[in-house]
Amino acid sequence: ATPTAIMVGTGLGAKRGILFKTATALETSARIDAVVMDKTGTLTQGKPEVTDFVAIGMDETELLALVAAVERESEHPLAGAVVTYATAQGAAVLTASEFRNVPGHGAGATVNGHKVFVGNRKLMLAQGIDIGPVAESREQLAATGRTAVLVAVDGKANGVIALADAVRDTAAAAVAALHDAGIQVVMLTGDNEATAARIASRLGIDTVIAEVLPEDKSAKIKELQATGKRVAMVGDGVNDAPALAQADLGIAIGAGTDVAIDTADVVLMRSDPLDVPVALRIGKGTLRKMR
Ligand code: ADP
Ligand code: MG
Repeated sequence: ATPTAIMVGTGLGAKRGILFKTATALETSARIDAVVMDKTGTLTQGKPEVTDFVAIGMDETELLALVAAVERESEHPLAGAVVTYATAQGAAVLTASEFRNVPGHGAGATVNGHKVFVGNRKLMLAQGIDIGPVAESREQLAATGRTAVLVAVDGKANGVIALADAVRDTAAAAVAALHDAGIQVVMLTGDNEATAARIASRLGIDTVIAEVLPEDKSAKIKELQATGKRVAMVGDGVNDAPALAQADLGIAIGAGTDVAIDTADVVLMRSDPLDVPVALRIGKGTLRKMR
């Protein structure tokens, strides 16, 4: 690459808040075949809100207080939303002990002598909890694109919390622009299949890899690379850092965590998904000038 082409490309990006950290980042942007996008915080705003709370065989406010006590100890974005909801509902503030965070699954703690778990189906299965009583509510809520989180008290599944996280305004347009450029788009998420599939179809994404544990995200990137594709990964979270590092091009959404931003090759300061196709286009323009 000529230094001039690199300077022009870097400058074009900077004007739009697209920071190419190195000349190599700019050159790699020109050669991407597939873009993998994290769902939460990348395609969506990452600001979940509780929309439904279903208690089965237990008083609703009582269950909410137990769940909130666990979630108050967690740093997960879903946990913050549950606490906000519980506070708004006037649920009692209880103290949790023996708190346990299970990455990609959920959390558990002892509250008022009860063993409380909150998280996904995998968490419940790992605890040997029968999710039969909440299965129907869970499926109905997930089918609408909401994240359905399950609650269990003393080994019994007795609640479902639905959370909605609005998709970013330009997410669908970004996917369309990538497809127009002949680039494959893949959604990667720790969220459940049904929720992910619903959101993907709304955005025009045909390939979804769901229910992926945080530590397995980079392995999924490797699998795509093994098919001969040059892969860009777009993410925002701490969980995404290994995948950003594994990808040929790591792109961090600017509102994300410091870890993601430090690991990435490109940073999108405006947190706009449309800046993904724009970045790749700037890369192509730079390469053309180099020849
Ligand atoms: P993502 O890839 O969407 O950022 P995570 O890997 O962090 O998701 O979590 C995967 C799933 O585990 C969530 O969708 C949720 O169902 C469950 N989960 C994890 N932590 C919590 C928590 N503190 N409270 C409720 N559910 C949780
Ligand atoms: Mg995320």
